[in-house]
Amino acid sequence: MLESKYLIVGGGMAGHAAAAALREADPGGAIAVVGEELDRPYARPPLTKGLWQGKPEESVFLPEVPRLELRAGRRAVALDPARREVRDDRGEVHRYEKLLLATGGAPRRLPLEGADDRIIYLRTLASYRRLRDAPGKRVVVVGGGFIGSEIAASLASSGREVTMIFPDPALGARSYPADLAAFLTRYFREKGVTLVDGETVAAVERRGELDVVRTGGGEAIPADTIVAGIGIRPETSLAEAAGLRCSDGIEVDAYLRTSAEGVYAAGDVARFPSDALGERVRVEHEDAALSQGRTAGRNMAGAGERYEHLPFFYSDLFDLGYEAVGVLDSRMETVASWTTPFREGVVYYLDERDRVRGVLLWGTFGKVDAARALVSRASPVRRDGLRGGLAP
Ligand SMILES: Cc1cc2nc3c(=O)[nH]c(=O)nc-3n(C[C@H](O)[C@H](O)[C@H](O)COP(=O)(O)OP(=O)(O)OC[C@H]3O[C@@H](n4cnc5c(N)ncnc54)[C@H](O)[C@@H]3O)c2cc1C
Repeated sequence: MLESKYLIVGGGMAGHAAAAALREADPGGAIAVVGEELDRPYARPPLTKGLWQGKPEESVFLPEVPRLELRAGRRAVALDPARREVRDDRGEVHRYEKLLLATGGAPRRLPLEGADDRIIYLRTLASYRRLRDAPGKRVVVVGGGFIGSEIAASLASSGREVTMIFPDPALGARSYPADLAAFLTRYFREKGVTLVDGETVAAVERRGELDVVRTGGGEAIPADTIVAGIGIRPETSLAEAAGLRCSDGIEVDAYLRTSAEGVYAAGDVARFPSDALGERVRVEHEDAALSQGRTAGRNMAGAGERYEHLPFFYSDLFDLGYEAVGVLDSRMETVASWTTPFREGVVYYLDERDRVRGVLLWGTFGKVDAARALVSRASPVRRDGLRGGLAP
């Protein structure tokens, strides 16, 4: 039996932020992390960005937390909230006073029999290394969301011949207004990426050393390497089996407490009540993981703080980049205010009551707080007022 005052399941970004906050709040309390990955905690965003631009691998590792016991390479397989015990896949039992579930998400997989081991699902440092070391230049990227677009841009910039396959009619069509998505699609093509839009992957066939990706429409695309970024599903299995309330994520209250006494959740896996958006949401972004990790850590040590932060997120695509807040859903009405079309501007996402629910700061930096304030105001806005831009 292993014992610690605080136990964290999941040694990712939220788990690490919680450990750091706990150490600050309770310098003497024993903290342990049970984490499935062998690598010590690291930042994931560079796996699609900086590491492809020459940043050294060591730069991704997060600062060490003093006197943190990292029980790496173990998967937690059972939780008994009444006994305050977690069992891992080696059969060892970890007893705790307070527990944080920071289990993140697992990549969604393509339903292809027999080909799964040849597809790299980019999520971990280990999967990044596999992609980096893969021989050959021809890479097929499946998925046109955040991960697919970022890795396609980085691979193309580092000399690979990239083909992207995605189901939407344009890149970013689910998030950006149609004209911006059309611009982005053209931009990727100009940068040498082959885009196969409106398509899915039907099969992967082996031909000697090569894979051939067959699309639903019958196209055959040769690939030395296949990488997929088609989203994640929240890793709730441990919580669900223990009877914690879950619905597309582990449900938490404003203090990041789950439905089980002494158990908290944070990061990609947590569905939390957002004051600013007026609904329960789950956010799969760095700022949410770090800020929730910190609040959960402080609360485990007794702070009693509400989580009121509205997380921002960001992405880099070739020399384009943005920051954003709230909900970016292209089905909503959008109002754009461009300083330079598709290079620098702000796009506002309005709900049916004319309230701003999301702000896309395209090529526009240093305005996240102003965007947050606008979303949090939650009162109707005038469209011509938005066209004038956003105060700093
Ligand atoms: C390649 C990539 C690029 C990204 N780029 C951006 C970006 O540009 N901007 C942005 O805002 N966000 C970005 N993100 C998202 C951001 O990294 C995530 O939101 C963040 O990592 C979530 O942190 P987390 O701790 O909740 O989950 P994770 O970091 O996924 O950590 C969860 C950990 O828990 C472990 N685990 C799961 N189940 C168990 C178990 N039962 N037992 C033990 N361990 C377990 C997992 O192995 C994992 O190590 C990116 C993500 C990826 C993958």
